[in-house]
Amino acid sequence: MTEQARVWMNGDLIDAERAAVSVFDHGVLVGDGVFETVKAQNGEPFALTRHLKRLARSAAALGLPEPDHDTLAQGTLEVLAAAPRWPLGRVRITCTSGPGPLGSARGDAGPTITIIADEQTPFPATGDVTVVPWARNERGALTGVKSTSYAENALALAYAKERGSGEAIFANTAGRLCEGTGSNVFVVRGGRLLTPPLSSGCLAGITRELTLEWCGGEEEDLSLDDLYRADEAFLTSTTRDVQPIRAVDGTALPAAPGPITLKAMEAFAARAAELMDP
Ligand code: PMP
Repeated sequence: MTEQARVWMNGDLIDAERAAVSVFDHGVLVGDGVFETVKAQNGEPFALTRHLKRLARSAAALGLPEPDHDTLAQGTLEVLAAAPRWPLGRVRITCTSGPGPLGSARGDAGPTITIIADEQTPFPATGDVTVVPWARNERGALTGVKSTSYAENALALAYAKERGSGEAIFANTAGRLCEGTGSNVFVVRGGRLLTPPLSSGCLAGITRELTLEWCGGEEEDLSLDDLYRADEAFLTSTTRDVQPIRAVDGTALPAAPGPITLKAMEAFAARAAELMDP
């Protein structure tokens, strides 16, 4: 957190220093919650409606009560209005099942809803990735759900960082290319822009969705070799937009950014205004 972070909690703006949840919160105890990270540009949220829809889908998948769209949209605008107008900021929305007795399946005293606005340090212009040795389970109950159980992702990211990379890449249990710890992956081979289908176990990333819509990419079942031998490749995520991949496991790709990656980056720069929706 930076000194200027702002926090909204269960309906009120509160002092970030005092923003605290109960040790009995099942989000803390077992990761029983869902979340979104929304980009803020000059104090305005990007694609907020799409994020809140995905949050509702994640909550339904976990059996949590549906978070109220208008309350969260309002809370997001309030917390951003209270924050400096950073050129690049992020809003983290978290809904957990809330406090409850130890050993119970989930919280029973009402959900804990927090919205944090903070400044976002831009990602480097290109990034290296490391393929992790653990498989992502494409058939798990939490597959494709943006739940707060992200320890597997945190472990993989730490693994990649120890090896000098900025992001880790998962293959699934069938050895097929899946996603990063906080990003989706695209490869260019023979002039085609390709990304793994949702059946690979990847999250339905909003930046991925926009890249498919805006840049004419296709979903295709891909191997790790498709990444290692790509002509170009890039990561997509809310906080990165499109980030060219420079090297995979220490071996440089032929171009970063290559021409198709560059077109995707330009599409985001040119069309961002379309989704600055309240
Ligand atoms: N995969 C995972 C596991 C993620 O956490 C994220 C970040 N939300 C993404 C992909 C990218 O999704 P988005 O473009 O919506 O940020």
